Amino acid sequence: MNFKSHLDEFEVFSKVAQAALNLGLETYLVGGYVRDLILKRNSKDIDFTCIGSGIKLAEEVAKQFDYHVPVSVFKNFGTAMVKLEDWELEFVGARKESYRLESRKPIVENGTLLEDLERRDFTINAMAISLNQADFGSILDPFDGLVDIKKKIIRTPLDPSITFSDDPFRMLRAIRFAAQLDFDIDPDTFFAITENASRLKIVSAERIIVELNKIILVKKPSYGFKLLFASKLLHEFFPEMVDLQGVDSVDDKSHKDNFYHTLQVLDNVCQVSDDLYLRWAAILHDIAKPATKRFNPKVGWTFHGHEDKGARMVPEIFRRLKLPMDDRMKYVQKLVRLHLRPIALVKDEVTDSALRRLLFDAGDDIEDLMKLCRADVTSKNNKKVKRYLENFDRVDQKLLEVEEKDQMRNFQPPISGEEIMEIFNLEPSKIVGEIKEEIKEAILEGKIHNNPIEARELMFSIAKKKGLEPQNKSPK
Ligand code: ATP
Repeated sequence: MNFKSHLDEFEVFSKVAQAALNLGLETYLVGGYVRDLILKRNSKDIDFTCIGSGIKLAEEVAKQFDYHVPVSVFKNFGTAMVKLEDWELEFVGARKESYRLESRKPIVENGTLLEDLERRDFTINAMAISLNQADFGSILDPFDGLVDIKKKIIRTPLDPSITFSDDPFRMLRAIRFAAQLDFDIDPDTFFAITENASRLKIVSAERIIVELNKIILVKKPSYGFKLLFASKLLHEFFPEMVDLQGVDSVDDKSHKDNFYHTLQVLDNVCQVSDDLYLRWAAILHDIAKPATKRFNPKVGWTFHGHEDKGARMVPEIFRRLKLPMDDRMKYVQKLVRLHLRPIALVKDEVTDSALRRLLFDAGDDIEDLMKLCRADVTSKNNKKVKRYLENFDRVDQKLLEVEEKDQMRNFQPPISGEEIMEIFNLEPSKIVGEIKEEIKEAILEGKIHNNPIEARELMFSIAKKKGLEPQNKSPK
């Protein structure tokens, strides 16, 4: 591969090379940018390593751009960042790291390029491209990263057990890279992950969730989850998902393995949506199946109420994993709670009122809910899958018709609480809520239409039954 022509293509590299020459600093392009260049992936973060002060180099680079680019200096880390249009250039001096048993924090000292590369996590991330005059554009690849890219392998440059014990976070990165790039993990490297999995305990939940979400956002996340499960890393931070795995049998009756079913649903959802939280809804839709599992000799295995219990488990799981405790959590919770409802609407004799209720409960998330339901069809019998999906087409159609008629998905009460209070001269009280609720129920049941005139009429008759009289305001 001709790296020189890539370097020639972008002015930034000749500017950095000129700055390095001015300061007499050996300088290299390193890390993820080199890897992504070889893999033809687009990357906007560029790491430069020099033998000397990265901060001085960054300042000299800014000078090359007549100081029209902002430089941020991180003195404590000995690094500096230059923003250039949508690129982020990071400059650091080559360093070596040594770990002591008694502390997780490495001792960081200035080092050679080789020492800098060997402290990196994987061979594919431990290559450098020279920006020096003598060999501008040539690649330095001391750990055969190029071969590993070709063989599609994640492997540590040094003894994997030491690499992971030094910094357990690298185990999660190994799986994340395997998932993103669709690479295998080298057997020795994978074995070392299984040996060190319990060390993940010392990694913060905030760092774990960043990597986990990256795994969830790949095209086919089931692979990453299978690696997390097989290495037992998943057991360290997501035991509820581990509990989904396994099949029980009684009287020759078995249920499906809910872990692999969940992964299939997740992959299916990923084919139709890039949304992280719809993907989380897929991961969590059956999360309460282990807790609700019963065997009934007449009907076999049941999981009654798993959708409600699952929805109740969502906040605790989000809180522990440091996922956002806001509307995104509520959205996932809603989809988990409602994920069986469209199935009940498949029957021909389904009433409009059932359709209106689902539209009311799902609101604008109805399309996402239908995506989840379709993804949930994971039978191996293709005829069955086809039939179920056609059933959902019919549900879609019925929902559309009812929505056109009744506009239930963004239901706003046709009479507000304030109006009720004013008409009957009431203070805020339970009775106001009861009148509103009865009106809403009547609309959902189809007893009245969703409009203010019919709602008002009903309000007066409800109020009368409750012994309330409208209060005429006395003229001023
Ligand atoms: P991505 O941008 O997808 O996260 P990246 O490889 O650029 O990929 P960064 O976190 O920016 O990831 O790290 C830059 C480089 O620093 C990596 O390519 C790797 O060489 C090194 N590195 C990052 N984290 C670690 C770590 N925990 N242990 C060892 N080396 C690491």
